[in-house]
Amino acid sequence: MNPHSQMHAFAQAADAVAATTKKTEKIGIVSSYLKTLPVEDAAHAAVFLTGRAFPRWDERVLGVGGATLSRLVTALAGQDSAELSGVYRKHGDLGDVAEEMLHGRNTVTDTSLEEVAAAFAAIAALRVQAEKSAVLHRLFEKSSAGGVKYVIKIITGDLRIGSKESLVEEAVAQAFGRPLAAVRRANMLLGDIGETLRRSVADELAGVHFRLFHPIDFMLATPSETAAEIFDGRSGEMFVEEKYDGIRAQAHKSGNRVRIFSRTLDEVSEFPELVAPLAALPGEFIADGEILAWHGAQPLPFTQLQRRLGRKKIDLWLSQEIPVRFVVFDLLYADGELLLDVPLRERLRRMFAGQESPLLGVAAVQVCDTAELLQQAFTGSLAAGHEGIVAKDPGSLYTPGRRGQSWFKLKEPYATLDVVVTAVEYGHGKRHHVLSDYTFAVRDGERLLNVGKAYSGLTDAEILEFTEYFLNHTVLDEGYRRVVEPKVVLEVAFNNIQRSGRHESGFALRFPRIVRVRRDKTERQIDTLERVRELYGKQMTLPRALAEIP
Ligand code: AMP
Repeated sequence: MNPHSQMHAFAQAADAVAATTKKTEKIGIVSSYLKTLPVEDAAHAAVFLTGRAFPRWDERVLGVGGATLSRLVTALAGQDSAELSGVYRKHGDLGDVAEEMLHGRNTVTDTSLEEVAAAFAAIAALRVQAEKSAVLHRLFEKSSAGGVKYVIKIITGDLRIGSKESLVEEAVAQAFGRPLAAVRRANMLLGDIGETLRRSVADELAGVHFRLFHPIDFMLATPSETAAEIFDGRSGEMFVEEKYDGIRAQAHKSGNRVRIFSRTLDEVSEFPELVAPLAALPGEFIADGEILAWHGAQPLPFTQLQRRLGRKKIDLWLSQEIPVRFVVFDLLYADGELLLDVPLRERLRRMFAGQESPLLGVAAVQVCDTAELLQQAFTGSLAAGHEGIVAKDPGSLYTPGRRGQSWFKLKEPYATLDVVVTAVEYGHGKRHHVLSDYTFAVRDGERLLNVGKAYSGLTDAEILEFTEYFLNHTVLDEGYRRVVEPKVVLEVAFNNIQRSGRHESGFALRFPRIVRVRRDKTERQIDTLERVRELYGKQMTLPRALAEIP
């Protein structure tokens, strides 16, 4: 294939993936497409098809705002922003807007995959928006409409073609005739689907080794409504831990070097005081746990911890005012040995017991072998002011990135939803100059559907911070209201759910309140329309967990 039409072919393949809902067809299209490319280009394409500019382990970020992209598209199309607004209303996606507005340009030539990869690297290395914009402008001048569309979709972080990393893994396995399990394992260890593809081509999957300081995806817990449900079809013991209300963290340690990663696999730099106690522990390891605001022998509410999050400079005063503790509940690697395939019981046995300090703790485990005991542990945890419990099968292996049938969470009997902000408005009264009213959505497949609008719950400082953020991440400025890039994840509480024609989702939350900003979650991880439907259905009956509390 002519490398100068590669992005054109990428766009055609991605369009074909988007056009079918059948997973096997999507896999077939990606697999055939990858086989047409030279290995290095296929490696770039595999990364881009997961919706990322860089491999998963790579922490570089592009930092290009929606406002910059909107300006580039209108300039290239020779149109004004009013035109863009109209088209945006139709699609709700900047990539699709670009395709429509640039329709018919460069239909023969396009950029190569290598040129797109080089542009992404250059953009990540630049700090100034205007300079990032200039790199993109040069790229877009040579691109077809489809090429621009997909570069924009990758930049905004949402490909919306139903091609996830797991699907690309399957396509790589199929394209190069390798066992899916071997491809998945290599990709989990490498954190790089492009490198996984290279190793698949070279038949070198077996030689892939784990690399310390590259984060591993987190194992997640499946929500459960009752203690009895957790014991459904299961006998024997469960390990029960408190559900700690902080931020999930994975600490890698070797010698004096310590790095801590969040659930989004980004490095957490806000808690430098945790480095020394982790470095002081013997050996090499990866510890999985939760960072909590802490006072004496007690965790503090998440709102306290939140005051230390998202700060670029560490405020020494604040770190004394709000002390933290890392409570470890799993061990994934120790002294050269990856422990993912070792049962939880054994992983916990190897944990650093007896080395606890005010900054570092190990989660207490209660062993429960009946639903009654588990229920008691749950009510006990609620009575002590915690959010609930996590029950884990002691024989289970650590399955990165999966919500399986081995970890269950039982939460407080009222539900909250994790949603993403899609539009913002100026407030009223003293808030008329800040963006304080947030319309938010849940996910339905690749679509985001609004379910409500919240006015309160954030501090004044947070509202100021988000006002600035949203001004820079507006995709459509309607004056009093701004449609924004769907990036900010909120946890909202509400009184109940109503059927409503106001939103496309068909539902509206009544009296929604922002419980917290979920900086640890991305818009891919928000709740779904299915979950809203489920909660709507349940509110007809008394919440079961509530009914069980004596
Ligand atoms: P949620 O944030 O409601 O989806 O609940 C899942 C989260 O609970 C995990 O990602 C962890 O951050 C957190 N969590 C708190 N305590 C534990 C624990 N003991 N074991 C595992 N996860 C926990």
